[in-house]
Amino acid sequence: MKFYQLDAATRRKRLTAEGYLTPEEAAAWAQPALPSSVAEALSENIIGEFALPLGIARDLVVNGKLYQVPMATEEPSVVAAASNGARLAGLNGGVKATTEAHLVTGEIVFADLAAPAQAQALIAKRQGELLTQAQAAHPSIVQRGGGVKAITTTIIGRFLKIAVVIDTQAAMGANIVNTICEHLAAVLQTWLQQPALVAILSNASKQLTTATVHLTPASLATKTISGEQIAARIVLLSELAQVDGDRAVTHNKGILNGIVAAVLASGNDTRAVAASIGAYAAQSGQYQPLSTWKMVQGQLVGELTLPLTVGVVGGAISALPRAQAVKQLGHYTSVAVLQTVLASLGLVQNLAALRALAGPGIQAGHMALQANALAMAAGAKGAEIAAVATALQTRRKDLATAQAILAEIRKKG
Ligand code: NDP
Repeated sequence: MKFYQLDAATRRKRLTAEGYLTPEEAAAWAQPALPSSVAEALSENIIGEFALPLGIARDLVVNGKLYQVPMATEEPSVVAAASNGARLAGLNGGVKATTEAHLVTGEIVFADLAAPAQAQALIAKRQGELLTQAQAAHPSIVQRGGGVKAITTTIIGRFLKIAVVIDTQAAMGANIVNTICEHLAAVLQTWLQQPALVAILSNASKQLTTATVHLTPASLATKTISGEQIAARIVLLSELAQVDGDRAVTHNKGILNGIVAAVLASGNDTRAVAASIGAYAAQSGQYQPLSTWKMVQGQLVGELTLPLTVGVVGGAISALPRAQAVKQLGHYTSVAVLQTVLASLGLVQNLAALRALAGPGIQAGHMALQANALAMAAGAKGAEIAAVATALQTRRKDLATAQAILAEIRKKG
């Protein structure tokens, strides 16, 4: 049987047989997700927990290595589409991905200094002292091989901005950067004799990850449309997203379907990732698609480039038991591995969505999987959910029909 045809317990058994889970890890996935002591320690005013299904995008080949990517999402068809995209990419040698050095920037900003140019000169002259202070503010990150790599200054209107570029090693780095920036702000305050307006991490990221896939058009064929036709329409859809901002937003939302689900499962900060990706997409002044698709020497070539502000230690990653289990199952051994897997997942998710748009349309697959959600919205419980969803496959897929089917099922007993 195929992975998606199994029940959850049998899927865990299969992953164990394949060596992705130990028997202990498989047993832990069957337990409740969050001890109340962890929940209480992570957030405030807790009254319970909020659970999401955790699915696996199967067999994503990234740089020649096979990954099973855990995804936490409530949207039907996202995991199925990711697995389908991964399958298509796998038929064509998989995804190649690269990432730049993991550096995070903080900013310390002063407003309305009497002599901003002189302040700039002073900071340049005493840069060595500032670097020593920065390293002293967070000695453990220096011991781990990271710390401040550069300090630059810019005058922006009435503001003097001091940008501090920090190597945060395996951490996403928000707290590390904020600690260093606040310490430097206190030092600079004595030099410039004025308090800083703000000293904080910038969620804009210049470090980019790129994923590329080369596909033989024939591999994209559906039952009714040739692969060449699908590839040509994917290229057109890509071009459309480059000139139509309205289309680009939805194009990118499809990419984020995969990335946000995998980022959430990994215990990383989805808001930080979404904010930096949004800024990157808009940086030219016209909101742009994150990926492009072109025909090159008879092959359909997809390329996705984006910033991915994530870590593999620290924050909720270390605190949430499920995030630790995801890190293990996803083989996220470094920030670079996580970034390249996320970008590759985004690219194959995009491929699956574009192929559906170019072929049968998005609703056929989407609404088939949406039937479970409709059944539950109609009030179906337990075995009724599958019964209503099955009946919906051949009927109009709306709430009234789902309610009518449920009533029929209950009447029949
Ligand atoms: P942490 O504050 O948890 O710092 C990283 C931790 O990981 C440190 O305790 C560090 O230990 C430990 N660590 C262990 N091994 C390593 C290693 N190899 N490299 C680096 N650190 C290591 O997390 P971050 O600084 O990454 O901050 C992320 C959190 O900040 C997220 O939860 C995010 O939601 C939140 N946040 C986000 C903001 C934003 O995006 N604007 C703003 C503020 C917070 P040691 O102490 O020994 O160095």
